[in-house]
Amino acid sequence: TNFDTLGLAEPILRAVKAEGYETPTKIQAQAIPALMDDRDLLGIAQTGTGKTAAFTLPTLHYLQEERQKLVPKTPRVLVLAPTRELALQIAESFETYAKFLRVRVQTVFGGVKIGGQIRALKAGVDVLVATPGRLVDLQGQGAVDLSELEILIFDEADQMLDLGFVHDLRKIMAKVPDDRQTMLFSATMPKSIEALAKDYLFEPVKVSV
Ligand code: AMP
Repeated sequence: TNFDTLGLAEPILRAVKAEGYETPTKIQAQAIPALMDDRDLLGIAQTGTGKTAAFTLPTLHYLQEERQKLVPKTPRVLVLAPTRELALQIAESFETYAKFLRVRVQTVFGGVKIGGQIRALKAGVDVLVATPGRLVDLQGQGAVDLSELEILIFDEADQMLDLGFVHDLRKIMAKVPDDRQTMLFSATMPKSIEALAKDYLFEPVKVSV
């Protein structure tokens, strides 16, 4: 497989090439076609496998294909990540691969004042990258509306459970539409992740690298 055969929109391919990538990694080759086919995905993959691009590229392709006449204020894509560092890395990936597109990316995490994040959300965002605790706080303040979400991604789901975020994840999932595409990435597959996958993924394609 090479990137040209995947059918990604041209501005995305251009950004991928600008990064110097020549061929998709194994998880990208397996996940991208399934995700572009609107399937849910369960990905067992460690960092370093190219998993971030595996979910970022098809997500941007979707946003590019399904452009809306009115610019929506509420997030269309939510990525949940265990730590501030990972959330920032994911947001940076979205920015990198979206550099020839118009996509608004916002990151929210705990440990900093909430006011700036509330203002940023009010301005409107397409892709929201969040740590679960802060997202629940923002929900509690009525500062974030997930009712129009189209794509939801759990990254490093096992880490989120290890950090005790399960109740926050459940609270968040109670507020998202059923009619969405869902992806779950985890380095390991304990029973607790199987349970999460069973509750939130619909007939997922399973990819393990
Ligand atoms: P990740 O596993 O998502 O943390 O990505 C690991 C690293 O691989 C990142 O620095 C990416 O920029 C890089 N990368 C992702 N996909 C490719 C690819 N197809 N070819 C070369 N490098 C890549």
